[in-house]
Parts: sequence; C-alpha cells; structure tokens
Amino acid sequence: MQKKSIEFHYEEYSSKDELNSLDRALLEQALVATTNAYPQFSKFQVGAAARLSNGKIHLASNFENTSITSCAEQELLSHLHALYREFTIETIAVTFDNTNPGTKSDFPITPCGKCRQLLLEAEMSGKKPIRVIMAGQSGKVLVATGVQTMLPLAYSAEFINT
Ligand SMILES: [Zn+2]
Repeated sequence: MQKKSIEFHYEEYSSKDELNSLDRALLEQALVATTNAYPQFSKFQVGAAARLSNGKIHLASNFENTSITSCAEQELLSHLHALYREFTIETIAVTFDNTNPGTKSDFPITPCGKCRQLLLEAEMSGKKPIRVIMAGQSGKVLVATGVQTMLPLAYSAEFINT
C-alpha cells in the first residue's frame, strides 16, 4: 500500500479590485446575473458568467420551482449547449447574493459537486482548462485554474470505453 496525495492550487485575491480587467468584468456580469435568479424557496441568488473562446460572454442564474432546483452553472451549460454544438469556456465566474435576513454575501461561493462534474465535462470537451472565479458580493475572490483540479479522482466518461 502507498499513501498518495493530490495538491490543489488556487489564487486568492483580497477583493475583486485586484483581479485583472477581463476577470473583473466577467465577475461584474455574474453579479448582474444574480439579480435575475429565481430561488423562491432558498432566497439564495446565484449568478454565473462564462467567457468563451469566441470572446462572447453568456450569463445564467439559479431557479427553483416546486419540482426543480437548478444551479446557475447548470443553467449556463444548458444555455450554451442550446446555442453551440461545440464551445470552449475560457473563464467562468460564479457569485451569489443571499437575500435571507441576517445573512452575509461577502465570501466566495464555490460550485457544488454536481456542477463541478458538469463543468469538468465541459472542460474536457472544450479541450482547455477553465479558469473558475469564485466570489460573493464583496470580500475575497478565489480563482482556480482547471475544473479538474477541483474534482480529484473525478468520474470520467472514458471509464465506459476502457
Ligand atoms: Zn451546482
């Protein structure tokens, strides 16, 4: 038996003001997307913005109805699949606004496990590591390079064909 480890590297910025102009602009778009969220039960508004290799930026937000709860990242990928047969995401920004009374939105939000898997598969089909910007309304910002680094020992569709 051997003990193994996997290191996870990411960048931490004290605020969005430290980001480069492209990343800051994408995060601003994700902040706009939170205002279109429809989380009628959780009141936890999440926005996602993706910059593609074609230079276009697309937005999505989460929504909840009585039978479906869907994350902003999942909605964003569904939107992109509806628009493009193939696409490459260069950077995605995810942020939130918790509108429940007495809560804060000043820390980075991170994608849930399901969304990490979905983003990983988009990363593999896009053939390029996706930069993932994670933020709140204010406060520090985290940036990971490559969804694969955020999902160690991930399930892969390649398993089916080996
Ligand atoms: Zn999710």
